Amino acid sequence: MDYQLILHEIYEIISAQKDRGELASYIPELAKVNPDNFGIYLTTVDKNEFGIGDCYTKFSIQSIAKVLSLSLAYKILGEKIWVRVGVEPSGTPFNSLVQLETDKGIPRNPFINSGALVICDILVSQLKNPLQDFLSFIREISDNANVNFSKSIIESERSVGYRNIALCNFIKSFGNIINDPDEILNFYFSMCSIEMSCQELSKTFLFFANNGFINSGNKQILSISQTKRINAIMQTCGFYDESGEFTFKVGLPGKSGVGGGIIAIHPNNYSIATWSPKLNKKGNSYRGMRFLELLTTNTQSSIF
Ligand code: GLN
Repeated sequence: MDYQLILHEIYEIISAQKDRGELASYIPELAKVNPDNFGIYLTTVDKNEFGIGDCYTKFSIQSIAKVLSLSLAYKILGEKIWVRVGVEPSGTPFNSLVQLETDKGIPRNPFINSGALVICDILVSQLKNPLQDFLSFIREISDNANVNFSKSIIESERSVGYRNIALCNFIKSFGNIINDPDEILNFYFSMCSIEMSCQELSKTFLFFANNGFINSGNKQILSISQTKRINAIMQTCGFYDESGEFTFKVGLPGKSGVGGGIIAIHPNNYSIATWSPKLNKKGNSYRGMRFLELLTTNTQSSIF
């Protein structure tokens, strides 16, 4: 497959069309990003790499980090984590509070904010130095000591974090947050502030396409079963109330973030990161979704 040519062709098509998305303005710092950034990077399991556009510029990965925090919690605690968070699509926006009341504080899945907060609580309980240990985990799987949190994004999100503060306290009232909510929120905002380029993201997520193995198959981060399961949750819950639409149009497991990034996995084949900051109404990158839809359509290759 000539991926460089395919990426180039799709990039040209989409760049020529109007970008119908809007910047995520509810986090002030994200509203300052140049909306015209557009980058793509694809890494294959046999270590071929293809990039185009702004693929080396770092951006805020936001909710994409929820896949990495889930991976670490799952690696440490195994199946026990599913007592505290479900694996069903919620069909609600990422920051919704509504189902928690009837579900008694057990979030539907780990990729909506409520579920991600519970995973943060698990990590804060399990890790000695939670933020440092989480960062070390990401640096290990990405083989990149250059990955870091962004102080300005953390403070910007904290200054407007009313919904996440409400979610965390609400879950705490049901007993499904054990630690101090302030500590959990600090971990959550920090995790969301991590910055990576498309190149770094696609390399970091390659182990999901590689049965859980990093470093050319040498080290296993997650078991084959755990890798399958996280891919399955990305497939069913990775795009909030647009997960069905993403599956329908793209047909790959993936995860979006309000920084405009998307990661998608073609198991045993490749991982691809896209970045275009303008979002559709569901909070997913407009151009990123279009790009991936054309990629799996033109290559006639998805998981289905
Ligand atoms: N930090 C963001 C928030 O909690 C993450 C949301 C997202 O990327 N969908 O609002």
